[in-house]
Amino acid sequence: MESNLKQNAERAKELRALLNKANYYYYVLDKPQLDDAIYDQLYRELIEIENIHPSLITYDSPSQRLGGIPSKGFKSVEHNIPLLSLDNAFNINELEVWYARVSKLISTDKNIKELHNPKLTCELKIDGNAISLRYENGVLTRAATRGDGKTGEDITNNIRTISSIPLRLLLKKPPSWIEVRGEAFMPNNIFNKLNIERKNTDQPLFANPRNSCAGTLRQLDPKIVASRKLDFFAYSVYLPESWEPSGSDLKKPNSQSESLKFLKNIGFKIDSTFKTKKNLIEASSYYKYWEIEKDSLPYATDGIVVKIDNFDIQNILGSTNKAPRWAIAVKYPAEEKATKLKKLIFQVGRSGAVTPVAEFETIELAGTSVNRATLHNAKRLDSLNLHYEDTIVVRKAGEIIPEVIRVIKEFRIVDSKLVKFPLNCPACNSKLIQEENEAITKCINFECPAKLKGLLRHWVSKRSMNIDGLGEKIINQLVNEGYIKSIADLYKLEINSLLKLERFGEKSANNLLTEINESKNKNWHKQLYGLGIPHIGEANAKSLSKNFHSIEELNTIAKESPENISNIYGFGNEMKEAIVKWFCDSSNLKLIEELKSVGFSLKENLDTNINSNHSKKLIGKVFVLTGALPSLTRNEVKELIESSGGKVSSSISKKTDFLLLGDKAGSKLKRAQELGVKIINEKEFRVLVYE
Ligand code: NAD
Repeated sequence: MESNLKQNAERAKELRALLNKANYYYYVLDKPQLDDAIYDQLYRELIEIENIHPSLITYDSPSQRLGGIPSKGFKSVEHNIPLLSLDNAFNINELEVWYARVSKLISTDKNIKELHNPKLTCELKIDGNAISLRYENGVLTRAATRGDGKTGEDITNNIRTISSIPLRLLLKKPPSWIEVRGEAFMPNNIFNKLNIERKNTDQPLFANPRNSCAGTLRQLDPKIVASRKLDFFAYSVYLPESWEPSGSDLKKPNSQSESLKFLKNIGFKIDSTFKTKKNLIEASSYYKYWEIEKDSLPYATDGIVVKIDNFDIQNILGSTNKAPRWAIAVKYPAEEKATKLKKLIFQVGRSGAVTPVAEFETIELAGTSVNRATLHNAKRLDSLNLHYEDTIVVRKAGEIIPEVIRVIKEFRIVDSKLVKFPLNCPACNSKLIQEENEAITKCINFECPAKLKGLLRHWVSKRSMNIDGLGEKIINQLVNEGYIKSIADLYKLEINSLLKLERFGEKSANNLLTEINESKNKNWHKQLYGLGIPHIGEANAKSLSKNFHSIEELNTIAKESPENISNIYGFGNEMKEAIVKWFCDSSNLKLIEELKSVGFSLKENLDTNINSNHSKKLIGKVFVLTGALPSLTRNEVKELIESSGGKVSSSISKKTDFLLLGDKAGSKLKRAQELGVKIINEKEFRVLVYE
């Protein structure tokens, strides 16, 4: 227990130092050193330690104060009403926990009617800078940054250049004072333009629109601020208790949603995407919708803010010294996270390429659990200067393969050893080579078992021979036991050999042998793809197979007129050279002969493809896919469309005939609706293809 406390104390110290330093770079210098998601993750780790051991909370802990520190270039101003931050949730579960806590807190108060299931106003969390505006008798007299929540910087002259901020309110009889809070931000197009200009003039780039907005607001020359075209959304208003508006259309707000309407009526720009929701389920849908659609907005948002709508309930809940209890920011899932390196392995692929792969403590990234990530090649490994037990930053965006993008050097353990790329193949110990002008380090031993295993995995995979029941473990056993020395040996396997392997009974062994045997009838392009020629993925294998109808023809072309390969639409020199090189390798020619000897003809007339089941019904039709379909995978859909004469495109245009819509559809749906493209689901698609 004591050692646990000691360990946590050390970690808390480490985290405090790192976060305080990050705050300084972020809030004072406007030059963040860490990504926000990494900052949030480390901050959360500190809070967890402090929650378990409150004795470890120190006065200088970042958890004890708001980050900003007023800069010296501006006059300091005291906020009449503290300008707080927001508590964070990082997923829907945490939003539910917040709601349960809030409901419990208010359930004891008997004076409010709307106590159970209070309404929630959902707004986008604009990724800019909080600003407080003070109006006296309807005229803007002071604008201030949030600073540390109590004291901010007087940036009135700069704020006056933002044209969406009224200098005089649209109120017939304004009260003696009004305080308006909102977010100043830099629209994406302005941010991109500014960074291009900075790049062209060799100035350091801004990390994101929020930083460039902060940097702009701190300019001492208002003319520069004006040129940067900042914008502002108002989201809250404070009024003297005694004041009542005159005029029939204005009502003194008693809720967040009424405040937004009030702000609009008195001349402010509000973000019109806000919605008042009846319950948590509806609020969650709002979050899910914007998680997908956020990139279609002209400004950056990093999540949503859920606020208890009713002011009376807000007052019951009150605030901590950092954030109101009645609101929570729900951030979008991180695409980058920090984690601890557990192990570094050097994987030998089917082409012999050796790839460093990091294994680490599992993290949730872009909605999936990740515990391995590639470091690509020796050059990347070198540039990372990775040491064992380092804290690394892993990135995974959407479908992209997770990769290690950075090391947090501040967390390096003293005396940890540098990770070095091996000189010999980790599987067969032969000397590795680095080909000229290539980033890849390779094992060139024909008989390397790791290469064979990789090629076998590729050959049996769904897109090639699609042999079910031949997973990695069985492949490893077959190679390790010496039953298989080439792909062709798969087709010579006998039941007795399979029965000697772990977990095989007569039935499963027979099933596997049938599957293996039937795979000989696969399309020519699938066989070609299965050979694992570098750069020849599924789509390229299809194009090649349409142009060259047998392996002999392709071999002759590769040797006699390779320019015919680079002339294929979408092919280039790199692919041509990869093919030429593949056919020059005697072990590949041997493989071709072996495959033929077990019954593969490696030519087009083997096609028993889906065309025989359905005619070319989709000739000339262009499809775009979005979201996940209930039963078909993207590859299956692509195959069905292409084999029926249609085409698959990645973006919607006037030329698109159909948008095939699945679950969690992206922004393509909106675009298709705008262009009047026909939208179909999987069921309708099946009718098109099969009936
Ligand atoms: P925050 O950004 O998580 O949220 C609070 C802010 O949200 C408010 O102050 C307000 O300005 C803003 N906001 C936007 N839309 C809003 C709306 N509709 N309603 C209410 N408020 C709205 O908290 P913060 O205290 O401003 O900053 C902390 C965050 O800053 C961290 O979580 C981290 O992501 C980032 N940060 C990063 C580093 C770094 O090194 N990268 C360092 C410090 C802080």
